[in-house]
Amino acid sequence: MVSSLIEKVFEDKEGFSEFICSLTQEEHEESIFRKIQNFLLKFIKFDAFLGAVVNWDMEWITFEYIVNISKNIIYERESIPLNEKDTLSGWVVKNRKSLYIEDTKKKKELPANLRLVGEPMRSWIGVPMFFKDQVIGIISIQALKPGTFSMEDLSLVRFIADTTAPIFNVKIVENELRLVKQKDEMIENALSSIGIIQDKKLVYVNKQTEEFTGLKKNEIIGKNFLEFVHPDDRELLLKYHIKRVQGAYAPKEYIARFINKNGETRWGMVRAKKIMWNGKVAILFTIIDVSTLKRYADYLRDMEKYFTKLGSVKDENEVYEVFMDSIQQIFDISEVLIGVVKNDILKVIKRRGYSDIPAEIVDDSGEFEMVISKKTPRYREYNGKVEYIVPVEVEEGIWNIVAVRGNHIPHRELIRVMADYLSRNIKRIHLYRKLEESRNIQRLMIHMVTHDLQNILSVISGYAELLKERYIGEYVEEIEKALKKSEEIIARARLFSRLDIDRIDEKIEEIDVRELIERAYDDVKASHKNSVIKIHGNAKIKGRCLLRNAFYNILHNAYKYGATEVNVKIENLVGRVMIKFADNASGIPKNMRDEIFKKYVRIDTESSGMGLGLWITKKIVELHHGKIWVEENKPKGSVFVIEIPTS
Ligand code: ADP
Repeated sequence: MVSSLIEKVFEDKEGFSEFICSLTQEEHEESIFRKIQNFLLKFIKFDAFLGAVVNWDMEWITFEYIVNISKNIIYERESIPLNEKDTLSGWVVKNRKSLYIEDTKKKKELPANLRLVGEPMRSWIGVPMFFKDQVIGIISIQALKPGTFSMEDLSLVRFIADTTAPIFNVKIVENELRLVKQKDEMIENALSSIGIIQDKKLVYVNKQTEEFTGLKKNEIIGKNFLEFVHPDDRELLLKYHIKRVQGAYAPKEYIARFINKNGETRWGMVRAKKIMWNGKVAILFTIIDVSTLKRYADYLRDMEKYFTKLGSVKDENEVYEVFMDSIQQIFDISEVLIGVVKNDILKVIKRRGYSDIPAEIVDDSGEFEMVISKKTPRYREYNGKVEYIVPVEVEEGIWNIVAVRGNHIPHRELIRVMADYLSRNIKRIHLYRKLEESRNIQRLMIHMVTHDLQNILSVISGYAELLKERYIGEYVEEIEKALKKSEEIIARARLFSRLDIDRIDEKIEEIDVRELIERAYDDVKASHKNSVIKIHGNAKIKGRCLLRNAFYNILHNAYKYGATEVNVKIENLVGRVMIKFADNASGIPKNMRDEIFKKYVRIDTESSGMGLGLWITKKIVELHHGKIWVEENKPKGSVFVIEIPTS
C-alpha cells in the first residue's frame, strides 16, 4: 500500500526528480541531509532533524547534520562509537529497524538514550538507510510535542531514506576515492605501500609498493595479491579479504608477513577497507613496513632473556661470559672484547675473536681513553672492519670498555643497552662481594674480641698464680690494667654486635706500614717488656687499620713462643709490598707451616691460646688481596711473610 503522503510526493513529480538530481550534485553529506530535511518539511511538520552515516570499518556513527529547526541551531559534526544503547540512532542502525516513538517521556518506550537537540523532543522517528542490505546511515525527524507523527509520516521518511540511500553510498565511496585521487601525489610518495585489490587482483599500487615488494608496478598489477603474502599468512589474509568484501567483520588493522622479490620476509602493518572502485567492490589497503620494528621486537625479546640470565649470575667472570655469548647470539657478531684501560694501555680481560691483538695494547691514539673520559661510545673503521667501543662503568668512577667488531654492526643502540646492563650487573656483584666482605669482617672482629680477651685472661691468670706465691702490689696493678683492657674489649664487642655491616666495613685509607707495625708493637710490648724489634724499610699501601691486628698477632706470637728479637723488613716490589717478620723463637715444623693458619690449630698446647690468632691474621691479609706464609729462619726461628698488592 502506498501511503497518501507518498502519493502526494509523486504528484509533484518534477519537484521530486529535481530534488533527487540536486542531491547528486552535492558534495558533502551534510548538505544532502539538509536538502532531505527541507524536502520532508514540505510534507511533515517537525522541530528537529538528524542525519548520520555509518562507518562499519571503524564501527562509528557520524552525525553529519543535526538541527533544531525552531531554535535554528545546527550542531557540529560529531562521530561517536556505534552502540545500540548510547543513542536512539545507534539502536536504529544496529537493529536495522525503523523506530517510532510517540512520547519520549515514557521512558519504557525508549530502547536507548535520547540525544538532546537543544531541548527534549517528545516525538521521534528514525529510519535506517539501506544500501545493498547494509545500513549506511539514518534519517530522523523529531518534534517537541508528543504524538506529533503518524504512521504515514514514518512511511514517507522511510521512502525518502530508501530513495536517497544510493546517493549517499555514491557519496561515501566518492569521498574515499577522492581521498585516493585528490591526494594522488601524496599517495604515490607515501611512506606506506598503498593499493587496491579487486577480484583478488591488485588493480592499483603506489610507488612505495615497489619498494616493499622489490618489483615494478607492471610486475605487480594484475597479480593475485596472495602471491605477495608469506605462505604461512595466506590463508588468514584470504579469509579477511573475503569477509571484508562481503561486508562481514574483519580486523581493520593487523600485522602480516609478505615476501619480496628476493624471497625475504617483510613484516607489514596492514590497514584495509572496503570501497567501490570503477563501480565494483574493492579493497583499499595500506601497508607500513614494520620489518625493522619487528626485528627490533625480536632483539628486545632476546635481550630480555639476557637480562634475566645476567640477573641471576653471582660471579663477575660469568657475567662477562654471558654478555659475550649474548652479543654473539643476538646480533650475530663474532668478535667481542672486554678490556680495562690503565695508563694508556688497554689490557684485555676477555675476548671472543680479536685474535689479532695482543693481551695488552698501547692506546697511542688515545681512543679508548677518550671513550672512557667522555663516557660515550665510539664507532670506527678498524682494519677493514668496523668496531664499536662502549664504556662500561664497573664501579663508581671506574670504567672498562667493551668492543665489538665485524663487517657490519647493527643496532648499536641496543648493544649499548646490553653494555649498560652488563655494567649494572658487575656493580651488583661488586656490591654483593663487599657485603660478603663486610660480613666476614664482622665475624672476624667477633673472633678478634674473643681472642684478645683470651690473651688478657691469660695475663690475669698468670699474675694471679704469682700472687698466690707472694703478694706484690705491682701484680695487682697489672691485673687491674688487664681488667681495664678487657672492659674496653667487651665494650668493643658490644659495639660490633650493634653496628650494621656498612659501618663495620672500615674505610680503606693510605697506610704507612712501618708506623702501623710500630703501633702494633706498642701493644705487644705491654706483655713482653724485654722484647726487641728492628724495623727496616718502609712502604705505603691502601688498606684498613685492621692490618694492625695482623701485625700484632705475628709479633705477639713471636715473643710468646720464645723470641727475644724480631727483625722486620719492609720491601717495595713491583705492584706489591712484602713484609717479613723474622724471629728467633722455637720455629715451626715444616709439616705445620700451612696448618697453623687454620682455625684452632696449635702446636704448643702447653701455652695458653685458642689457635685463632694466625687464622685471623690470614683473613685480614686476604681481605687486602694478599698472601701470608711462613718460612724457616736460620739459624733458629721462623719468618712470617706477608705480601700485599699495592693496587
Ligand atoms: P695461638 O697462638 O692462640 O695458639 P695462633 O693461631 O696464633 O694461635 O698460632 C697457632 C700456633 O702456631 C701456635 O699454637 C703456635 O704453636 C704456632 N706459632 C705461631 N707463631 C709462632 C712463632 N712465631 N714461632 C713458633 N710457633 C708459632
